Amino acid sequence: MHSTLSSFPIPYGRQTITDEDILAVNEVLRGEYLTQGPKIAELETAFAAYVGAKYAVAISNGTAALHLCAMALGVKEGTRVITTPITFAASANCVRYCGGEVWFADIDPDTFILSLEKTRALLESKPKGFFSGIIPVDFAGLPVNLEGFRALADEFGCWIIEDACHAPGGSFNNSARESISCGSGTYADLAIFSFHPVKHIAAGEGGMITTNNESLYKHLLRLRTHGITREAELLTENHGGWYYEMQELGYNYRITDFQAALALSQLSRADQGLKRRQEIADRYTAAFTAAGIEVPFVHSGSQHAWHLYVIRTPKRKALYDYLRTKNIFCQVHYIPVHIMPYYRQFGWNKGDFPLAELYYEQCLSLPMYPALSNEEQDFVIQAVLAFLEKA
Ligand SMILES: *Cc1c(COP(=O)(O)O)cnc(C)c1O
Repeated sequence: MHSTLSSFPIPYGRQTITDEDILAVNEVLRGEYLTQGPKIAELETAFAAYVGAKYAVAISNGTAALHLCAMALGVKEGTRVITTPITFAASANCVRYCGGEVWFADIDPDTFILSLEKTRALLESKPKGFFSGIIPVDFAGLPVNLEGFRALADEFGCWIIEDACHAPGGSFNNSARESISCGSGTYADLAIFSFHPVKHIAAGEGGMITTNNESLYKHLLRLRTHGITREAELLTENHGGWYYEMQELGYNYRITDFQAALALSQLSRADQGLKRRQEIADRYTAAFTAAGIEVPFVHSGSQHAWHLYVIRTPKRKALYDYLRTKNIFCQVHYIPVHIMPYYRQFGWNKGDFPLAELYYEQCLSLPMYPALSNEEQDFVIQAVLAFLEKA
């Protein structure tokens, strides 16, 4: 019945490009600006509105966005920052780019995101001022309850960077029952997003920083372009109309105008994409719950952004291999960052974070993207159930 499907690999995630997207990019290519054109500001305004933040700064990719956040928050040699082992390495690497030290706290065994309790225990185990910042990740699209992290961060004098790469459109309810969007800057000092094609909004490469903090915002604008400013009130001298000053060491982390046009066109369909991800999650959850397979945790009243749909099984490697034979290309998110050879040189090792390591042994990300058809999804579900002998 599904023989026609299996001739094409079904990936775990992929972009959807429409004719409107192509037209939007074409329009920029035929116009005046390739980089630093009007689409960038348009994207920033629209994205800030989408997540409910005051300011947004478009960046060349999510990793560069993290790097600039770490710089803007003053990470330097000796600065200690806490993040989760279950994330893409970039969440930790941004601290290393600035010479800081990456520390980890274990994950919550139910949600698989950075544990608030474990983070508190780590903060309490050292003198106040030992740590400078926390980087929680809205892992898989499940929004971190940042209200709790904010209180903790304030108690210990830390800043927060929310790595919201998995969660545009996600939200959680705070204790006052207000809906708080991922990246809104309500609790985090800075939040970052990625426009890599497997993420919700594709631009080829691209990223975004959002914040409600005006001085951080202005600093990020300068850091994005070499540390250069033209703002009259910031200049130490002024030689004329051409004059600018490079006042600190920044980078070229700009996005191009045609990438911004693609992201903007994609953003206009973001709600639709999120709705489809929710439907796909609901269909997986219904099928797996009926078969007694554990399904992802969702907080009541929250909007999970469903970047990933992760199931767990002790037979994960065999299931992964079996699904490949059916042309279903699942993925594992993530190999814990602390066991990466690069991080082991700083003394981290297997056994340090048992919950993260157990999660890693068992997790598998099933296909999850808006263009996944019901028929393809049923094929995936049947294959999983057949392998786990639950069909
Ligand atoms: C994708 C991703 C990044 C990096 O984004 P790029 O745009 O690929 O540089 C960082 N953190 C997390 C959690 C991600 O998923």
